[in-house]
Amino acid sequence: VVVPFGRRRMAGVVLAVDVASDWPPEQLKSIESIDRRAPPVPAEVLALGAFAADYYRANLGEVLLPALPPALRSTRQWRMPRALAGLQGPGPAVPQLTAEQSDALAALTPQLDGGFSTTLLHGVTGSGKTEVYLRLLEAVLASGGQALVLVPEINLVPQMMARVCERFPGVGVVAQHSALADGERLAGWLAAQSGAARVVVGTRLAVFAPLPDLALVVIDEEHDASYKQQDGPRIHARDLALWRAQQRAVPVLLGSATPSLETWARAEAGAIGRVTLRQRARAAALPRLELVDLRRATAAPGISFRLLDALKARLARGEQSLLFINRRGYSPTLRCNCGWSAECRRCSAHLVLHRDPRVLRCHHCGAEHVIPKSCPDCGNLDLQPIGQATQRIETLLADLLPGARIARVDRDSVRRREDWPQLLADIEARRIDVLVGTQMLSKGHDFPGITLVGVVDADGALYASDFRAPERLFAQLLQVAGRAGRGDSPGEVLVQTRLPEHPLFESLLRGDFEGFAAEQMAERRAAGLPPFAHLAMIRAEAGSDEPCERFLDSVAHAVRDIAAAGRQSAQRGVVQAFDPVPATLQRVAGQHRWHLMLQSAQRPALRAVLASLAPRLPGIAGRSVRWAIDVDPQQID
Ligand code: ADP
Ligand code: ZN
Ligand code: ZN
Repeated sequence: VVVPFGRRRMAGVVLAVDVASDWPPEQLKSIESIDRRAPPVPAEVLALGAFAADYYRANLGEVLLPALPPALRSTRQWRMPRALAGLQGPGPAVPQLTAEQSDALAALTPQLDGGFSTTLLHGVTGSGKTEVYLRLLEAVLASGGQALVLVPEINLVPQMMARVCERFPGVGVVAQHSALADGERLAGWLAAQSGAARVVVGTRLAVFAPLPDLALVVIDEEHDASYKQQDGPRIHARDLALWRAQQRAVPVLLGSATPSLETWARAEAGAIGRVTLRQRARAAALPRLELVDLRRATAAPGISFRLLDALKARLARGEQSLLFINRRGYSPTLRCNCGWSAECRRCSAHLVLHRDPRVLRCHHCGAEHVIPKSCPDCGNLDLQPIGQATQRIETLLADLLPGARIARVDRDSVRRREDWPQLLADIEARRIDVLVGTQMLSKGHDFPGITLVGVVDADGALYASDFRAPERLFAQLLQVAGRAGRGDSPGEVLVQTRLPEHPLFESLLRGDFEGFAAEQMAERRAAGLPPFAHLAMIRAEAGSDEPCERFLDSVAHAVRDIAAAGRQSAQRGVVQAFDPVPATLQRVAGQHRWHLMLQSAQRPALRAVLASLAPRLPGIAGRSVRWAIDVDPQQID
């Protein structure tokens, strides 16, 4: 509907209708117009929004409006999209299932008629999890159902769409994500709602897509942190999808090579099902992993002789290599012997040295500075770049491997979304020998020509304070290692580190997720951390530290009061408030950041405390502090 709002007109969604109002009639306004061409948002989607708003302590509007196509949120007239036509194509080539895939399917197919269930599909990289999804989709489509397939990132949507479309010619398949053109987003939404589309492939926001005949939810890479929104309402799309599937009494399949420990714990406890794919579907074997000690002499800063030799061997054989380094720019610090280093004035962070253009840039606030010719403190002319990032590795390799075709893939080199298909085509057609890239390249992609993966520096995350850092590092390394040897030639993975004795690497070398998970779970249990406890974080930001700390101190007091009152009223479970602490990155763009962690072994107890606490927060905060509630926080920085 379009309604007058102050001096403006705004689009809104009618959530409820009443015949009387507490407001005096002269203060009520009439709806200006009702858009009857779009069917109403389904009650089920509104209920999902209401649940999300309640669970994550957000406003319904904040949660729901971003999920609606922009055309439906606008006061302007939109054009009815053309009817959806499925892609027509030749008869698809359907591979014969491996024995493991057949077993998985035999276990999963009965779930399709069994109401709500959750099953983890734990399959090593390249084990053919997607083929299992496709066979389940086939069964769902045959019995007239619709399916929702979630992937963690926009970049992964086209590949999944292509595989689904190719397998099911003539079937309506639509995408839902935030980077679609308005027309396409609207067409997809309407087609899903009318039933013209049978499969929706999308990111986080697709969890709200209208699907009247929903019969299956697939969540690929279920462990991926991108499913959790990091700003605005901090919803977790995987967890919302589980809730929705339960409401709709349909099965959920969670796919991953490195499941989240939350999911893993539930599978271990038998609370959800689990099927396992231990072998690759096509390539003969998993790649061979090797640690390379960076403390020994290197061919160039950050490039060991071992890695260089392996790269040369690939070039000689006409095979492709991928070097992974999770930092963009030239080098993460510029330093002088006297102790000076380039730091951002507005953030507690180093400025990153960039080439092309040559500039010092803060990756947190975006501030840019010219590179000083000499040290601002002592006048020394010899300022040194310290550490590695994508541009520097690219430059070093160009010297070390003359004639090699090297491509850098990071957010600076792939600015526009249109660059992405061209890049993928170049990799596929072997017009590139060596790829140097950030995590943009590590996820999901299937490049059969890559036989060598080099992890330039794995150590950063080993020092991180976030208790999930090892879990993420393990997943990331196994994921990036999984890019190697997916074709016919065997793969090799070299992980460079200064800490080769770290226990995480032991499990990694064996490809032993179970062992790693068991170790992490023991630590988490001892420390009272998820999945053995539930967390919520109150984040605060202000112009200085003092108001943040004062605000969070008061919040901690309030929590203790509420929890004590709750215990008296026979509510079970203890909610603990820790002391406020400054964030690891204490200052960003001049804003000081603190947080307060709440913990409980009982989720309902924590939810009850948050429900009482939330309405009090604006009063406690006053004007100087901005705050946010993060339920089930993923990033503890
Ligand atoms: P995952 O998602 O588990 O990492 P994919 O589904 O991408 O793995 O499959 C890896 C590769 O194996 C793909 O190229 C896929 O086409 C191929 N593949 C999958 N299943 C089979 C099969 N049964 N026979 C032959 N090739 C297969
Ligand atoms: Zn900054
Ligand atoms: Zn100096």
